[in-house]
Amino acid sequence: MPTVLLTGAAGYIGSHTWLALQSAGFEVVGLDDFSNSSARVLDRLKELGGRTPVFERASVTDAAALDGVFSRHRIDAVVHFAAFKAVGESTAQPLSYYANNVGGLVSTCEAMRRHGVKTMVFSSSATVYGEPKYLPYDEVHPLAAMNVYGRTKLFGEQILRDLEASDPAWKVAWLRYFNPVGAHESGRIGEDPRGTPNNLMPYVTQVAVGRREFLQVFGGDYDTPDGTGVRDYLHVMDLAEGHVAALRHLLEQRASATVNLGTGSGTSVLQLVAAFERASGRPIPYRIVERRPGDLPAFWADATLARELLGWQARRDLAAMCADSWRWQSRNPTGYD
Ligand code: UDP
Repeated sequence: MPTVLLTGAAGYIGSHTWLALQSAGFEVVGLDDFSNSSARVLDRLKELGGRTPVFERASVTDAAALDGVFSRHRIDAVVHFAAFKAVGESTAQPLSYYANNVGGLVSTCEAMRRHGVKTMVFSSSATVYGEPKYLPYDEVHPLAAMNVYGRTKLFGEQILRDLEASDPAWKVAWLRYFNPVGAHESGRIGEDPRGTPNNLMPYVTQVAVGRREFLQVFGGDYDTPDGTGVRDYLHVMDLAEGHVAALRHLLEQRASATVNLGTGSGTSVLQLVAAFERASGRPIPYRIVERRPGDLPAFWADATLARELLGWQARRDLAAMCADSWRWQSRNPTGYD
């Protein structure tokens, strides 16, 4: 079976994708610098996978370290997760976002080229669509970034398009994620943000477990059914399986693809809170506060292409997303530490 290098392998999506790839029979080499993740993930992956994970501690910005990794392992393809992802922080620290997200992508591709590896799955985001011209977003919707983080993803997409155009041996899957939530159903791995969570679900689970007093709902007067923001939440294990499907497509069809990974339906903040209360049996006190600057009122995916091209669709519903997020948080109230 092919061997896949996962950059950012210890992170939230990386760790779940690691398990999904192993279940599908792939060999995995994980790489992470733990700049935004915990080494304890590796113990959990060992327990869940039944073997010691093959792991390299390095930054994707370190060319010499990447050369070492490609020399020690016979890599067939790269799934590139390693990146910073906080919108607010990206505005305050643009250079570190460009260095890690854009510079790290370039150095990873350069190392790949030096070692003759030309197949990559790239973590992109629905944020590259910018203000909706129409909904749901399909893959031909115009692109526009709304902040530094979004620009790093948009530039990353473009760099890979230029690379693919320069050498047709390159095959790339541009995966545009919607809003991943949930956790592996074992409750042993999950999302563990450092500091105050920026995203809705980890904030909700921290309220449920007593680490935060109440949820702030950012805006109650949007033009949506209940006035709160609408997003396309998808289970992180579905997202992980989407990477397996994309990788198989690249390796078997030898064709690049740009694909949304979402469920195709929208859920409001208050609907998510209600679903979480049902799943957990815990009340989630909340207060409606000002809109968060830069937030869009609503967006969700047209998920047709993923089904037609990759044979992938999200299988787990909102109740499963909430139940699995809660299992992870309730059994690991302070995350991995
Ligand atoms: N949100 C909220 N309170 C929070 C975090 C998020 O009301 O503490 C809302 C946010 O305004 C948006 C939705 O939840 O409508 C999803 O936000 P998230 O940051 O998780 O994802 P993104 O905005 O990047 O799609």
